[in-house]
Amino acid sequence: MHEEQGSSVRMTIIVDDAGSGDLLFGVVIGACREETGEFSYGLVDVRFFQQVLFCQKEYLQEASRIVSQLVAELKVKPDEEIHVCQGNIFDEAVDELRKVYGEGRVLRVKVVGEPQRLTEIAYLDEIRNLGYEPLAEREAKRAKSFFHMMRWLKANPDMLRYAKTGWPRLKRYRLFNAFHEDSLYRAVCSDCGCECEVPFKPDPARPVYCRACWAARRGR
Ligand SMILES: [Zn+2]
Repeated sequence: MHEEQGSSVRMTIIVDDAGSGDLLFGVVIGACREETGEFSYGLVDVRFFQQVLFCQKEYLQEASRIVSQLVAELKVKPDEEIHVCQGNIFDEAVDELRKVYGEGRVLRVKVVGEPQRLTEIAYLDEIRNLGYEPLAEREAKRAKSFFHMMRWLKANPDMLRYAKTGWPRLKRYRLFNAFHEDSLYRAVCSDCGCECEVPFKPDPARPVYCRACWAARRGR
C-alpha cells in the first residue's frame, strides 16, 4: 500500500498499447500510475484497422482521444511526468499531451514491467472473450502467433469482422480476399488514394470516392 506524501513521492503515468501487431481485435491502450497501481484501459475498435479507416490512419486520432481521456481520469499531478510507449499508434496522442501538459513532461519510452503486463492482460482478456485461446509464447513468436490467429479465423470465418483486415500485407491471403462481399467492387479512391469498395463496377474514365471522401464532398 503506497501513501501519498505531498510532493515527496514522485508519480509517473505510463501509457502502453497491446494488440497493435496482432491480427485479432482492436488495440488496447492502458494507462497506469505505477507508484499506486492505478490502472485503466480503453479500446481502439477493430474497425479502425479495416479498409478505408485504416488507410486514412484514423486510429491515430482515436488513440489520442482515448489517451487524453485515460490520463485525465488519473488526475495528473502538477509535476507528474507522462511516459508513452514508442509505438507509432501514439504519435498524435503525444503531440496532444505535449500541448496540454508541456513538452518536458511527456516522454517516449520503452514500457516494461507492471504497466506493460497489465495492458497485455487486458488485451488477452479481450481476445479470449472472442473465444480465441492465444499461444503461450505469443510475444516471443510473432510470426507463429500470426498464423495461429489466421488458422483460427479460417475455422471461424464469421470472426473475420474482429480481424485487422485493413493491413495491406493480408492481400496475398485468399482468406481475407473472400471477406469482401461479392456484390462490391474494389476501387482506389480518387481523393485519398485508399482502397475502397463500391457497389458498382468502376468506370476507369470517372473518379471514384470512398465513403468518407464522398461524404466530405457532399458536405461542401
Ligand atoms: Zn477517400
